[in-house]
Amino acid sequence: MAPVKLGLVGIGKIARDQHLPSLSRSSDFDLVAAASRNAGVDGIANFASTEEMLEAMPEIAAVSLCMPPQARHAVAAEALAKGKHVMLEKPPGATLSEVEHLAGLAASHGVSLFASWHSREAPGVGPARDWLKGQRIRKVAVTWKEDVRLWHPGQDWIFEPGGLGVFDPGINALSIVTRILPFPIWLTGAELTFPENRQAPIAASLVFAGPGGEAVEAELDFRQTGPQTWDIVVETDGGTLTLSMGGAKLSIDGEEQAMAPEAEYDGLYARFAELISAGQSDVDPSPLRHVADAFLFGRRAVTEPFFFDPPAAL
Ligand code: NAP
Repeated sequence: MAPVKLGLVGIGKIARDQHLPSLSRSSDFDLVAAASRNAGVDGIANFASTEEMLEAMPEIAAVSLCMPPQARHAVAAEALAKGKHVMLEKPPGATLSEVEHLAGLAASHGVSLFASWHSREAPGVGPARDWLKGQRIRKVAVTWKEDVRLWHPGQDWIFEPGGLGVFDPGINALSIVTRILPFPIWLTGAELTFPENRQAPIAASLVFAGPGGEAVEAELDFRQTGPQTWDIVVETDGGTLTLSMGGAKLSIDGEEQAMAPEAEYDGLYARFAELISAGQSDVDPSPLRHVADAFLFGRRAVTEPFFFDPPAAL
């Protein structure tokens, strides 16, 4: 198959950190244009909006959307309606209904929609899923604690409605949990902690249950300084499985397993190419559904105000 001509939209942190390097290595895609209001990519055509990009370059067959979730639906809907294949950064949208709408649009226009979950491509995730298939699982403990100032410098959208707050990274853990567990889980309790000046939580504690009495607990926090923690520990009758560093490392009963090098975004673009050539879509909203359940069912706690750059007096 000739490389698919692709336009990249929303040139910010993740576009530069991951999408551009992966696209430069991909033989499946030819990055021909970018659309971003305040940024551009050297060496290709640049536009201020997706509309202008698709108007000027009808040869673009696919777009990959890297903007924050609140701005994604309108652009995705426009691209799908114009017959373009669409890849969405995680989370796939600000609401479940808009994601469902996009899935319907992709089907009716005969194009591929890929709601990507990059953490599912972490090297430990596939082997963890395979190992857990044969085990009786008792308990899962997720600890996802990172420093929002380090990973999301100045990104005020993250604390706006639809930005998900601490669930922006926490949904990565949920995307792994929903991939590796061989059974469904449902939320039974949650507490969400909101800074008094923000619309989205800075920390969350979640409890889920599984059909065999399995307990799944998750502690998410955006206020972690020093070492960062992205761990999932699964206790089973056959031993304890630990995924750490966001799924990059896997150990069984403390013994580290040999892993392929990290290549999450290369994996995502390979999957997007596969979907396009098979004429299929891949839209699994389950991680976003668990987050929506936490907003529906969680208790609310309020904590001190949060500022990316604390005023000098603080
Ligand atoms: P970002 O740098 O703040 O945003 C990306 C770009 O989107 C912005 O630079 C902006 O470029 C454009 N944009 C379009 N509409 C916007 C709006 N309404 N508000 C703000 N920016 C808007 O964010 P990011 O870290 O790249 O994250 C974007 C998405 O990638 C999120 O869904 C996030 O969960 C996901 N992600 C992020 C990371 C990470 O490490 N940061 C990792 C994996 C996934 P213009 O102003 O030029 O239009």
